[in-house]
Amino acid sequence: MPVAFVGHGSPMVVLDEAKGAELRAWGASIPGPRAILVVSAHWEQAPATIGPTRAVPLIYDFYGFPPELYRVRYPAPAAPELARRVAALVPDVRIDEDRGLDHGTWTPLRWLFPDARIPVLQLSIPSHDPRALHRLGHDLAPLRDEGVFLLGSGNVVHNLRRIARRPDEPTPSWAAEFDQWLVESLARRDVDSLLDWERRAPAATLAHPTVEHFVPLLVSLGAATDDLSRLHYPISGFEHSSISRRSLSWGQDRRT
Ligand code: ZN
Repeated sequence: MPVAFVGHGSPMVVLDEAKGAELRAWGASIPGPRAILVVSAHWEQAPATIGPTRAVPLIYDFYGFPPELYRVRYPAPAAPELARRVAALVPDVRIDEDRGLDHGTWTPLRWLFPDARIPVLQLSIPSHDPRALHRLGHDLAPLRDEGVFLLGSGNVVHNLRRIARRPDEPTPSWAAEFDQWLVESLARRDVDSLLDWERRAPAATLAHPTVEHFVPLLVSLGAATDDLSRLHYPISGFEHSSISRRSLSWGQDRRT
């Protein structure tokens, strides 16, 4: 299975047919996973925790959005079998059987796999240490051979204090530079730079005043270790001028 990172952006993506079409086309190109494991920016918990392991409602972890957003459902089956596998691969993992999927998971999955038939499990972000997160991804990599689609969910650039107030605002240079730095570092397969991103990337603190939307990418990177040269970008560009929509997929050759 490929391993990926999705730029989930605003929860409104779930109601956005144009953006949804790009996600849907990407999802259709992924060979049917047996289960999906998501590391979302919206679940930070130490030690590493997995859930849900039974059918529970989604979490609507956002405020002030239109009522239809709170009516979206994504009744994917729970994945207790995958939970057991993750527990065998990740030392000291905890289980939270009742924590529903958050919007970092269900907004992209609703377009990527609209049938909601594939079991889904989330794994929390257990730390902000790039090397620990990269190692975590490496520990999870065997799941790829077992038909599990590993998905980090965040944004390559994410600063809500700097989002555009008007729809026609151009992408600021700091956001474009950070996004481009990622692309160039990945092209060089420069994992050391990527793990040292807070020091080496241009405008790192502007791109990420807090790191939770970037670091799921490091888990995906760790799981992609054997496939760093087989990378493509199913989606790129920005929304609200500076939120990067760039999504990454390793280990699957681009469909032509
Ligand atoms: Zn988010």
